[in-house]
Amino acid sequence: MVEKMKILSELIKKIAPNFSIHQLSKGHEVPVLLPYYHLVSDKEHPFHYNYNFPSTKRFRKDLDYLLDHFDPISLEELHSGMNLRNTFHLTFDDGLRECYEIVAPILKEKGVSATFFINPAFVDNHDLFHRYKAAVLNRFFAKKGVKTELKKTYADLLSLDQIAEDIGLKWEEYLDEEKPYMSMEQLKQMDEDGFTIGAHSWDHPEFWLLDEERQLEEVKESMEWLVANFNPKIKAFAFPFTDFGVSDSVFDAIHRKRLCDITFGTAGIKTEKLPTHFQRLQMEQVGSKNAGQLLKTEYLSFQIKRLLDQHVAKRD
Ligand SMILES: [Zn+2]
Repeated sequence: MVEKMKILSELIKKIAPNFSIHQLSKGHEVPVLLPYYHLVSDKEHPFHYNYNFPSTKRFRKDLDYLLDHFDPISLEELHSGMNLRNTFHLTFDDGLRECYEIVAPILKEKGVSATFFINPAFVDNHDLFHRYKAAVLNRFFAKKGVKTELKKTYADLLSLDQIAEDIGLKWEEYLDEEKPYMSMEQLKQMDEDGFTIGAHSWDHPEFWLLDEERQLEEVKESMEWLVANFNPKIKAFAFPFTDFGVSDSVFDAIHRKRLCDITFGTAGIKTEKLPTHFQRLQMEQVGSKNAGQLLKTEYLSFQIKRLLDQHVAKRD
C-alpha cells in the first residue's frame, strides 16, 4: 500500500505541471489557499534540519507566483465569511527573528498581509523549542563529522538538555548570542505594521502526546497571553506540528469557552468539516522546484482525493 501510494504521488508530481493552476484550483469544496513557512534566510541556519526553508530569492518568487494567480487577503477577511475563491492568506509559525528582519520587509514591499503564530514561552528568547534544540545539537555533531538525527519529542527534553550539558553548550548563552526568536518589541512593531499575531501553544509540545485537559490548557494559556499582550481583532491559534490527535470535544470546548475565533492545522490542501478551522499548506517541502510546481501537485492530489472521497481532513 505504501509503495503504491509512493508511485501514485510520483505520478501526480510528474503530470501536475501539464495543467494550469486555474484548472486545478477550481471546483466546489476546493478550500482557500493557506501557505505557511517558518523562516526565510540566505544564511546557513541550524533549523534546516527541521525545514527546507527558502532563500530570499526563492521566497520572492513564491510570492510573485501566489500574487499572479491568487488575491492576498487578511485574517479578518478569511474569518469574515466572504467568498474565498482564488484567495490566499500567508502564515508563519514559531516567531523566529527572520520573520521580523527578512519576511516582514518583503511582505510590506509587496503589500501582502500575514499572520505570525508564536509561542509565549520563547518570546524574547527565554527558551528554545525542543526540536530546535535537537537541530542545534545535530549541527554541532555534524561539524565534528558525526551524523546524528536527534528528533526528540517534548518528553525527551531532559535528555536533550543533558546532551547539551555534556558538550558544554549552555542554552542561555546560545539564546543570548543567536537570538533565534523575535523580541516583544519586534512583535509589537509587527502588530503596529498591520500584521496579525496569533498563538501557537505555550511551548510547542506534540499535542498528540497530551491528554485533552493538557491540550486545552496549552490553547487557553497561550490565547490568554495573546489577548493580554496584543488584544487581536481576530483571536487565531495554529496547532503546533499538526492538529492530529485533537478530538472534536477539544474543539467544542475551544468554541464554548470562546478561546479562539479561528484555528489552523497543517494537513495541506484539505476540506474541513469544522467551520472555523482551516488546513494550511507547508511551502518548505524538499524537492519542490518552485511554488507553481508545488501548488499544482498539491491541487491535483486534492482533486484526485476528492474523486475518491478522501479530501476531508481527519484527526485520528
Ligand atoms: Zn511550530
